[in-house]
Amino acid sequence: MDLAALPKVELHSHLDCCLSYDAVGQIDPGTTRERYDRQFVAPARCGSLADYLRYTLNHRAALQTERALRIAVRDAFAQMAADHVVYAELRFAPLVHLEEGLTPDEVVGAVAEETVRQTQETGIEASIILCTLRDFDTDASLRTARLVERHAALGPVTALDIAGDEATYPLDPHLPAFERVRQAGLGVTVHAGEAAGPASVWEALDAVATRRIGHGVRAVEDSDLVARLAEERIHLELCPSCNVQTGAVPAFDAHPVDQLRNAGVRVGISTDTRGVSDIRLTQEYQRLHETFGWTLADYARVNRDALDASFAPADVRARVGGLLDAAYSEVSS
Ligand SMILES: [Zn+2]
Repeated sequence: MDLAALPKVELHSHLDCCLSYDAVGQIDPGTTRERYDRQFVAPARCGSLADYLRYTLNHRAALQTERALRIAVRDAFAQMAADHVVYAELRFAPLVHLEEGLTPDEVVGAVAEETVRQTQETGIEASIILCTLRDFDTDASLRTARLVERHAALGPVTALDIAGDEATYPLDPHLPAFERVRQAGLGVTVHAGEAAGPASVWEALDAVATRRIGHGVRAVEDSDLVARLAEERIHLELCPSCNVQTGAVPAFDAHPVDQLRNAGVRVGISTDTRGVSDIRLTQEYQRLHETFGWTLADYARVNRDALDASFAPADVRARVGGLLDAAYSEVSS
């Protein structure tokens, strides 16, 4: 099985954590390999999500101009093309890219425009999810929600997410932002159940009524919650290697991806932070094959489930569905 050649749907990838050494070099030609490895790539195991997030700040600091943001988008598409991603949802928090004078609309506009261009050039269909952050206040989250609404009308922006330190900050201050986006008929997803336990997933389901959870891996600690996820067909955006790196699970072979799937939970497989984690999606598929013996049927299932849960418009969904059907034709859907 040629894992690189399998078409892949990736729903959980942070644009502002994806920078390759080559991209950082384009942004700042003085960057050495040693500096990139030390500042942009987290150790294979961090003490906590908070430790891990420190490395993301260096990616963010490099992305404060329109030129740098466009380089990041092109870099992400090049990496996704190598993985044969056919549909991607890229996410980032626009309000943390204003340090050198860009306005939030300019930030989102540049990323959206470059994404459309890259879709035309590579054939990879893509949506953009705008993130608010756990440590933001209600007002900043509402500003991000309004950006989702405004830019959804113009281009590939489709949804609101919340990222950041979920173990320290609750969802409450951000509920008005999610309500606004939901009222507008747009998508929502919530990072939960990674640094924080099952209670954070219950909170996301009850307070935001999200149909998707970013990670959600620690739901496995609560059998009632697992049953609810399965029954309500909630999709978990799983990123196994990243979960090991942040300490959410102790080792790759201890990851509950199959335990969740066997309980009927729908999951997809993503990289989360290609640069910070130094991971490619094909590598992630390889690890799932080597560790859990995944076959073509497993890859077919997770990609079809990811497409079902995606924020793709109907025409894109149909095109990507056709690509998956052609590639996974030996496996009935
Ligand atoms: Zn994430």
